[in-house]
Amino acid sequence: MLSNYHTHSHYCDGRGELREYVEYALAHGFSALGFSGHGPLPYDNKFSIKQEQYLDYCNEVRAMKAEYEGRIEILLGLEMDYIPGIQEDFTPLIEKGGLEYSIGSVHLVTHPDHVEALRNSLLHNDNNSQSIMPHLWYIDGGNPAHYDNGLNELFHGDIRYAVRTFFHQTNAMIERNRPTIVGHFDKVVMHNRERFFSYQDKWFQELLHETIALIRETGCICEINTRGIYKGRHTDFYPARDTIRYMNTLGIPVIVGTDAHAPADLDRFEGAYEFLSEIGYRNIVKKLSV
Ligand SMILES: [Zn+2]
Ligand SMILES: [Zn+2]
Repeated sequence: MLSNYHTHSHYCDGRGELREYVEYALAHGFSALGFSGHGPLPYDNKFSIKQEQYLDYCNEVRAMKAEYEGRIEILLGLEMDYIPGIQEDFTPLIEKGGLEYSIGSVHLVTHPDHVEALRNSLLHNDNNSQSIMPHLWYIDGGNPAHYDNGLNELFHGDIRYAVRTFFHQTNAMIERNRPTIVGHFDKVVMHNRERFFSYQDKWFQELLHETIALIRETGCICEINTRGIYKGRHTDFYPARDTIRYMNTLGIPVIVGTDAHAPADLDRFEGAYEFLSEIGYRNIVKKLSV
């Protein structure tokens, strides 16, 4: 069976109406589709669903779910950002929207010394991106300059400390929120391109393994995200093939997501299922139970 639970739309930074995703999924033989727009954040930004549109998003997903019932199972979810100082608790959004699942992801890393400054900014309604962004390291997006600038300006070029902070932020998210799915949890490598460290470095492997141990302990599902490959930004899945092999030895449940930002991205699985079957992966989740 085909499914995809990592999808965006015009409500956040994707393209296309919800209906176009559903129709594409149906035409390509999917039996389940989850919507996971970027959850609203309490500061101005270009990528997440706007606070004032959040309930429209939830209601439209529910309307699709009802309309297409019996043809495809549609689930209402969000991809939520865990950002110390800005958003640490997913519960309010989950409850307000009546969500059926969550993807927890880190795209923006808070420097530990800047948590209070962020809290104060929000407290005083100083929530424009110029006030907020200097405290955050943006590890995602198409422009490596954001990665390099944040690393240099916020972390003074200390890549180990910066990457450790990324993983510790991920760990804190898992412990506190236990998202249904942990999204692209090694994406901090995307703009590295083996410039500052190697994936095989012992310190990096230790950080990976620490997060995997936590995923195992909490029972979250680990995402295998294919977007880096079809966007030409990365040559491997998030997490990488070697990491997936290691996770198989621990029996970690995995789910493949394409992180679709357009309807035609829905089936960009990029050989993920072939790879999983080739290595005899034991615990593959194809359908979320709610
Ligand atoms: Zn993401
Ligand atoms: Zn996403």
